[in-house]
Amino acid sequence: MKRCDLHLHTTCSDGTLSPRELIGLAKENGLTCVAVTDHDTLAGIPEAQDEGDQIGVEVISGVEVSVKFEPGTLHILGYFVDPASQKLTEGLLETQTARKLRNPKIIERLKSLGIDISLEEVEQEAGGGQVGRPHFARVMLRKGYVKTAKEAFDRYLAKGAQAYVDKRTISSEQAVEMIEDSGGIAVIAHPKQMKLDSEPKRLAAEIKRLCSEGMKGIEVYSSCQSKTEAARYRELAKQFGLVITGGSDFHGSTKPDIQPGWMGDGAAISYETIDEMRQIILGRKSK
Ligand SMILES: [Zn+2]
Ligand SMILES: [Zn+2]
Repeated sequence: MKRCDLHLHTTCSDGTLSPRELIGLAKENGLTCVAVTDHDTLAGIPEAQDEGDQIGVEVISGVEVSVKFEPGTLHILGYFVDPASQKLTEGLLETQTARKLRNPKIIERLKSLGIDISLEEVEQEAGGGQVGRPHFARVMLRKGYVKTAKEAFDRYLAKGAQAYVDKRTISSEQAVEMIEDSGGIAVIAHPKQMKLDSEPKRLAAEIKRLCSEGMKGIEVYSSCQSKTEAARYRELAKQFGLVITGGSDFHGSTKPDIQPGWMGDGAAISYETIDEMRQIILGRKSK
């Protein structure tokens, strides 16, 4: 069986391997087809495809877009997107800018709450990498504003807390539209993170809404989802006629237990899934 992994990150977003290194590791792990899906950027695709051509791994151009959603997190994966698409590039630029603008806003809010930390201190804490809320928490802890990192999140940084700033600016509908406009198809990433498992009716309603916006698949298998959870999402996939996809959500050394190709015990994605997605795209073109 040709084994595939449809969810992988590189240094172009928050992964720790370069696109070339990632494809090398995928080959070592016995994968024949992978999708590179960095957060809000297509920058890693050309290098990954070049390496794939050289060592014999098929690389699908992908992306993972963060969109507005409550109560949890909704990420949308795009597959077979065209990196030259203007609409997609512009849309992704908007989300990248929102990411960058968020950090000074958090600093401002913290200042208004009497917490005096600077962006430079937070950037130093991140060691030159992408700045995230854990870095704010560590500076606050070091300077004695909170007793634990958890307190920093609970009181200030968590969603809904006093200094929380939402970085997501686009809707799921916009994300699907820009993915489809670039010739790709949209898939719901790790549905567990939508945090609706305890409310099955609401979860089904949200998936129904996403389908009406053009969603074509759902990531049933992911390193963050258990067998029981995968079974639940498989049922939803059947109910709504969605393609069943899967991926490791590999990030490199930041999550060392997760390797390319691993998406839960015994779970695997075969090449048929890739064919299914291609059929959908071909069907759309012939209309
Ligand atoms: Zn994600
Ligand atoms: Zn991811």
